[in-house]
Amino acid sequence: MAFAFRRLLSVSTLIFFASLAVVAQTETVYVTRTGTKYHRASCRSLAKSSIPISLSEAAGRYGPCSICRPPLPGASSTPAATASERS
Ligand SMILES: [Zn+2]
Repeated sequence: MAFAFRRLLSVSTLIFFASLAVVAQTETVYVTRTGTKYHRASCRSLAKSSIPISLSEAAGRYGPCSICRPPLPGASSTPAATASERS
């Protein structure tokens, strides 16, 4: 009985951490129907339409918006470094 319980616990812990990893990797960004850029949810460019899309998918088909500077795939979130790049 005790063994079964411990096994159940470890499996649920594994699922918990796996779901955390999925959330971290599938960050959601937004695109518009006609635009060629992807955006953060708070971007003012999304006034007309906002279509949620995963970051990895957006990065393959769209460029990052220069106004809201959405996250880049694979890169850790260091907005200060990218912000000072083009001034
Ligand atoms: Zn934007």
